[in-house]
Amino acid sequence: MKNLRERNQIIEYSLKLNSTNLSPLRSGNISLRGIEDDAEGYLITPSGKKYETLKPEDIVFMGLNEEEEKNLTNKPSSEWRFHRDIYVNKKEAHAIVHAHSPHATAVSSHGKPIPPFHYMIALAGGDNIKCAEYATFGTEELSKNVIKALENRYACLMSNHGQVAFGKNLEDAFELAQEIENICHQYTIALKLGQPKILSFEEMKKVLNKAKNYKKG
Ligand code: 13P
Ligand code: ZN
Repeated sequence: MKNLRERNQIIEYSLKLNSTNLSPLRSGNISLRGIEDDAEGYLITPSGKKYETLKPEDIVFMGLNEEEEKNLTNKPSSEWRFHRDIYVNKKEAHAIVHAHSPHATAVSSHGKPIPPFHYMIALAGGDNIKCAEYATFGTEELSKNVIKALENRYACLMSNHGQVAFGKNLEDAFELAQEIENICHQYTIALKLGQPKILSFEEMKKVLNKAKNYKKG
């Protein structure tokens, strides 16, 4: 089978979506940039399947220029549009994780960016985490809103829906999705105590510079 190693890796991380409580049952989706039959595209989880039942042949390859869902027996995730649009718009994106993680979803329902109440906000790439405006799942409009919220960012919230994170590989994208969930958990606790103190623009500029050299494997 073509791209077997990549298909298995997507299944491994889909199961992790469940086991880490980042996204229960069949919610969320995962993709990996790839090439099949000389066509540039991405491998993506199928629509509506429980992760625990996934087999390598269930993972769908979609070309970057493909508009329509070609294979009706094995439909790609309903969110293939924003996965495709992220790969087209962000050359550095090689893997994408979309999750309905509980705290990110709760915060997303407020439809507002998360201000820098903690310096780790910088992990998303800037001095706040933006929230994509709401649109029905699986639509072009949602994809447009996600791309806008990902401007100069590696992750964003999706209003009344969840979160999306991308990275240079699946491990990286998954870790960022976990960090976003953790930040949202902390933010919900902070909000219960009143209005948290927000770090200044100047401080976040310093943090963003320092954070460039933070990750050590
Ligand atoms: P899919 O099963 O079609 O990927 O849908 C899950 C989801 O999270 C939609 O936003
Ligand atoms: Zn979703």
